[in-house]
Amino acid sequence: MSQSGRCYCGAVHYTFDAAPVLNLQCHCRECQYISGGNPNVVLAVPEAAFRYTSGTPQAFRRSDLEKPATREFCATCGTHLVTRSPGAPGLVIVKRGTMDDPSAFGNPQVAIFTKDSQPWHQIADGVRAFDGRPG
Ligand SMILES: [Zn+2]
Ligand SMILES: [Zn+2]
Repeated sequence: MSQSGRCYCGAVHYTFDAAPVLNLQCHCRECQYISGGNPNVVLAVPEAAFRYTSGTPQAFRRSDLEKPATREFCATCGTHLVTRSPGAPGLVIVKRGTMDDPSAFGNPQVAIFTKDSQPWHQIADGVRAFDGRPG
């Protein structure tokens, strides 16, 4: 079943039609900037299954990192929609809060980079937690 999503203002829409290969929350310091302070809750889907259906996002890559992720966001309202990471080749990492149904696919299955967690971060019962990236 295909899923769709959009930015806050509605200028950029996307869809994907594959089951996620990863369903996780990331506690790393970088994700705290992106999320506003909490873990970043994301799904990773095959690049081939993902496409924008209206609007064109702007892309941002930090120039001071050796292997920066590419972050795609709406140039009008600033909503960050997806990330493409050299650490996750062939995948598009979708921010669940931008999906039309953020509850699709249930709870995150793992929590990663918990070494960077803040005291207020929550991990649901039964979710496996990893200090860093799972091996
Ligand atoms: Zn927008
Ligand atoms: Zn992260």
